[in-house]
Amino acid sequence: MNFIFSPHAITSLPVLGSNLRFPVRRVFCVGRNYAEHAREMGAIDQAEGREPPFFFTKPGDALVGGAGEVSIAYPPLTQNLHHEVEMVVALGSGGANVTVDAANGLIFGYAVGLDLTRRDMQAKAKEKAHPWDMSKGFDQSAVAGAISPAAVSGHPAAGRIWLTVNGEMRQDGDLSAMMWKVAEIIANLSILFRLDAGDVIYTGTPAGVGPLVRGDLLEGGVDGVGTLRARIV
Ligand code: MN
Repeated sequence: MNFIFSPHAITSLPVLGSNLRFPVRRVFCVGRNYAEHAREMGAIDQAEGREPPFFFTKPGDALVGGAGEVSIAYPPLTQNLHHEVEMVVALGSGGANVTVDAANGLIFGYAVGLDLTRRDMQAKAKEKAHPWDMSKGFDQSAVAGAISPAAVSGHPAAGRIWLTVNGEMRQDGDLSAMMWKVAEIIANLSILFRLDAGDVIYTGTPAGVGPLVRGDLLEGGVDGVGTLRARIV
């Protein structure tokens, strides 16, 4: 087949313990999946129970990452770039209307990720009931480390998820505090989309989100999954 210009390279992530790479298709994100983070955003009191999960997306090529230090250019049109450390689920197969019981069977592996956010722009969007795309889906807004295959690491449901900035602890939560568990997230999302291999899902951030400046070194991890290192330049 001939194209009028060369198609862009596929975004991909390294896989721990393998020379093969994981080709990324789409990037989905879950909002407010840890009660403490929902509270710090002034969003909701979770005492009355779970609200249905809600999702937003980033372009597949907004994802950058790898095993080493990832350089992230501070994006334009924000004075308040925020970090959100999240566990990332990488799908090795897909389906529609997937049941909670079958959901883990779609998962290839897990990674540590950052859902970078233009917080000032997002606040304005919320105020005006505008979409979040420009505050959430900008270039390099999705960061991920190497993928740890579930065949090796299993399916982590508990364990620390943390982020330091310049060596200072900023976010320190536990996967067990997710309001919607990974299998439930996949089941819900598969009603909205026919999921497929290469899709990745950011599963929400624990409390402690905050601003970044140029020069900051971010180091994050999820117990049993791996680590991530990024520099804001
Ligand atoms: Mn997030």
